[in-house]
Amino acid sequence: MIDLHGRNINKLRISLTEVCNMACTYCVTSLSDHKRAPDELGADEMLSLVRMLKEHAGIEKVRLTGGEPLLYPNLIPVISGIREMGISSIGLTTNGQLLARKAKALVEAGLKNVNLSLDSLDPGNFKRMGRVGKLHKTLEGIEECLKIGLRVKVNMVVIKGENEEEIVKMLEYGVRRGVEVRYLELMAMGPLYHKDDFKLVTMHEILERISARFTVQPVSADTDSTSLRYWVPGGYFGIIPNNSAPFCSTCSRLRLTSNGQLIGCLSNPTPLSIRHLLDHPDPAEPLQNLVKKSVSYKQDATFTGSALVMSRVGG
Ligand code: SAM
Repeated sequence: MIDLHGRNINKLRISLTEVCNMACTYCVTSLSDHKRAPDELGADEMLSLVRMLKEHAGIEKVRLTGGEPLLYPNLIPVISGIREMGISSIGLTTNGQLLARKAKALVEAGLKNVNLSLDSLDPGNFKRMGRVGKLHKTLEGIEECLKIGLRVKVNMVVIKGENEEEIVKMLEYGVRRGVEVRYLELMAMGPLYHKDDFKLVTMHEILERISARFTVQPVSADTDSTSLRYWVPGGYFGIIPNNSAPFCSTCSRLRLTSNGQLIGCLSNPTPLSIRHLLDHPDPAEPLQNLVKKSVSYKQDATFTGSALVMSRVGG
């Protein structure tokens, strides 16, 4: 679907469940904030909605996230169901705590790539930032993906005073393991919305630290990519400059919550439920109208954030 600003909205990001086994300090105030939606969709219902969005709204790529998608009981049938409907671009965003033992089955089901959230390579700092979870489990998940040939990127949210000293160390790790690291500028979402003490590390600060250690050259990224991409000797890295240079003007995403609500924009997150269309005899037109309305909430250029928690909208 092409929106009023000429963006081709063809990517769907699904929060399969709001439940998570980590409680990152910038995402929630405590682990108990991650509550399963009482009306969370089952796998068949979720697949029916994805099929409708593919057939009637032009969705071509799907990313499964959450919450923690590896806690969704029917993740494998969801992946294989999406593949069977002819969508080949299927990605997963995960904290990797449960990945090592599930990666092979995920690939066999049709998973094509994984974005691993990894904010620190120091076990103590990892625990401080994530509250729950163990560094070695996420690292084992990455190693298993590499072993079976699954494409992996690492996402590191950079926070002032918490992990900025690890920017270079993370890139060295990425280069050593052949994994592209992407640095995410902190976003004013959920508990950080309107927070006075917003511990932003800007893309310029990130680049400054890396340039002091590596020769850095910008390279082109996909036109609808959210990240700026750079070459360094031995590899590549990316920066997702949510604040310094938001990617709103090329944002091609639509989000679907675990209970069947569309969210068109993180900065204007008015949810529109499409779940009732599961029982509709001819859902094409009402679905297209709801998608158009949801997409019309997209900002033209500026990311402002919102009170919405990322695990609900699918980070
Ligand atoms: N549990 C999975 C994981 O940890 O990757 C998927 C859900 S998590 C909400 C998805 C991504 O959102 C993670 O990479 C996380 O770091 C990012 N995220 C959450 N809150 C954020 C914030 N305030 N600013 C920037 N990124 C954020």
